[in-house]
Amino acid sequence: MRFILLFFFFGLFSYSAFCEKDKEIIVVIDAGHGGKDPGNLAHTSSLLPEKDINLKIALFLGGYIEKYLKNVRVVYTRRNDVYPSLDERVQKANSINADYFISIHCNGNDRKSVRGTETHVHSMHLTKSVAFAKEIERQFSSRAGRKSRGVKDMKDLKHTLEVLKYTNMTSVLVECGFLSNPKEAKYLNTTYGQEIIASAIFRGFRSTIEKEYPKSSFRRKKATKNVVEKGIFRIQIMSSVQAIDVNDSSFKRLKMKVVRVKLNTTNMYKYIYTVGNYSSKKAAKLDLKKIKNRGYKDAIII
Ligand SMILES: [Zn+2]
Repeated sequence: MRFILLFFFFGLFSYSAFCEKDKEIIVVIDAGHGGKDPGNLAHTSSLLPEKDINLKIALFLGGYIEKYLKNVRVVYTRRNDVYPSLDERVQKANSINADYFISIHCNGNDRKSVRGTETHVHSMHLTKSVAFAKEIERQFSSRAGRKSRGVKDMKDLKHTLEVLKYTNMTSVLVECGFLSNPKEAKYLNTTYGQEIIASAIFRGFRSTIEKEYPKSSFRRKKATKNVVEKGIFRIQIMSSVQAIDVNDSSFKRLKMKVVRVKLNTTNMYKYIYTVGNYSSKKAAKLDLKKIKNRGYKDAIII
């Protein structure tokens, strides 16, 4: 009997130790508005309303988390053009005991010149939410090259936001840019812009959970490299879900010819973008540094 008890307790101990090490994080991604509620509108009807851009960014963000992280469960408040009420969004996150809540929005202002990103928290006293929000804004300005307007709370806004006030977990509401600013509206309408914004939020999320749970491992091992051509080294600068024109102005800062390769994969990231053509890895490494300095920090040699 003693032996059985000992075994039982040991089993219980090792089970809880395992749980602590590999805690599963639940993140709720909330694409603002939807359905009957379009949110902010761009200055021209040829551009998407806020609800559609929010959804695209939300799905990119969830895709990145699922692709690059483990031990994180992604739950969406909506995955298509429907309108869950604010109450339903809050209830969904609270009922599953989510650890993080990220609401995605785009801003609007009467003045067209106003631009930049903002991340909202309910109150500056909520230190975890504030730290998360700061990290997202830091990523926006340092990596995504956006103008950051900083972290704001209900005092700045002069009213509360229901999804921040009533959610029980670390919660932020990200304003990805102003649709009232023609240049930002155009940027937010491009797949490129949506991916850059989503990846900045992704990085902010990843570094936040890594700080919060230092004992857990969240990074998936690098996906097996896709060999484009044997014996030739290239530098992969990015991947995307939908094809991006290699002459897109965003690639201009590379000052190199960009080649798009469509992968034969079931993965949602079907396209990779490469530069260079090197006969040795050493030669590729020299250019890799330059390319990273030009903003493609995730570039890898393939
Ligand atoms: Zn909104």
